Amino acid sequence: MEFRKNDIVTLQIEDCGIDGEGIGKADGFTVFVKDAVIGDTVRAKIMKAKKNYGYGRLLEVLTPSPYRVEPKCPYARQCGGCQIQALSYEQQLAFKESKVRGHLERIGGFHDIPMESIIGMEEPYHYRNKAQFPVGRGKDGRIITGFYAGRTHSIIENRDCALGAAVNREVLDRVISYMETYHVEPYEEMTGKGLVRHILIRYGFFTGEVMVCVIVNGNRLPHSEKLVESLREIPGMTSITLNENRSRSNVILGEKLHLLWGQTYITDKIGDISYQISPLSFYQVNPQQTQKLYAKALEYADLHGEETVWDLYCGIGTISLFLAQQAKFVRGVEIVPAAIEDARRNAQLNGIENVEFFTGKAEEVLPREYEKHGVYADVIVVDPPRKGCDEVLLKTILKMQPKRVVYVSCDSATLARDLKYLCENGYQLDKICLVDQFAHTVHVETVVGLQRKDT
Ligand code: SAH
Repeated sequence: MEFRKNDIVTLQIEDCGIDGEGIGKADGFTVFVKDAVIGDTVRAKIMKAKKNYGYGRLLEVLTPSPYRVEPKCPYARQCGGCQIQALSYEQQLAFKESKVRGHLERIGGFHDIPMESIIGMEEPYHYRNKAQFPVGRGKDGRIITGFYAGRTHSIIENRDCALGAAVNREVLDRVISYMETYHVEPYEEMTGKGLVRHILIRYGFFTGEVMVCVIVNGNRLPHSEKLVESLREIPGMTSITLNENRSRSNVILGEKLHLLWGQTYITDKIGDISYQISPLSFYQVNPQQTQKLYAKALEYADLHGEETVWDLYCGIGTISLFLAQQAKFVRGVEIVPAAIEDARRNAQLNGIENVEFFTGKAEEVLPREYEKHGVYADVIVVDPPRKGCDEVLLKTILKMQPKRVVYVSCDSATLARDLKYLCENGYQLDKICLVDQFAHTVHVETVVGLQRKDT
């Protein structure tokens, strides 16, 4: 049967899509319904209809799923940050496992996947050490901050995100009150006018250090000394900076950083290693789970103190320094210069000398070092952004023939694509483990250990 826009359907939700939406069928017609949970029976209104499928808006949950829970955050449904807070945490983990498995089977062509049990969180709230809050004006003209609604740039006002650190609230209250007192305008995307775009907050869970970076459409903040005076009262405040971003794009951070008070970085610890983190550098957002993730990567690397290792997409050298504790020598490659500065400082800070860092694209640095200097690797670790590894890089890895490759991934679709390529060319899947770094969202980290077939 065919359906049209505005038709009302009753559906049994039987599956969960890759963005966390519920999937059900009405007379053979598949409907994707945001906010519906596997096991629900719902009434939905068709908003968009294609030949065999459509998108529905949830009107009513007729019979709630046994997996349905009351979200902790009152804005969970509108906010674009979380997608599956209404699903029990146990089911979230099952969903993530089946999503990764599905990608590996369909895109990668794998079967008999050697998957270990997913490593979930004990307390899946208030785990994030970083948040970037957009600043704007509400309908009533007040300055507001919160998160973008799903797929839009309208701000859902919320200073108490259930995933964020408790200190966020205090920081946001103080920045907004300073803006109101000194008539500092929020930035307006439509016109490109106004000053304050985002407030970035980082919190070191281990050290208690707090970083605030105000991102502005300009290069100064009027009466910034008043803001500093107020923020300094917050226990743990360590770094207050201004980031200049005059672009009309969606990119949150610009390249220029101005120190307003304290240091340009905070320090945090993962395992035995301390890391200094600047606002521009990538740092894993969930420190508790990151430790487990890195421990898995280290386990899969299977180091005995004699190995030469490359850590590609190394960020501030987090994995590199972890590996260096058990390898002979580690070389890290990362595209962001500020992150490499952090990486070098972090090596020094921890007295780790068997590491070297390169700034540049992994797909340029590794081929160059291999062609020019014939560099060698026993183990190669990659941890690329969502788009996965560049083909040139994968080709170089194949030429270098490391015994093991450890692939850390935040996107299972590109992971499956890249693994297929490696496994068609001499490697085999040894072990896979999922680590839930992003509870209540559809995202998950995967660590894969690959072994060269002839070893
Ligand atoms: N391994 C690090 C960072 C992983 S995130 C950690 O666990 O903390 C991915 C990193 O890849 C980011 O730091 C990003 O800046 C970097 N990056 C993106 N494209 C790159 C490329 N082509 N070459 C090298 N690094 C890249």
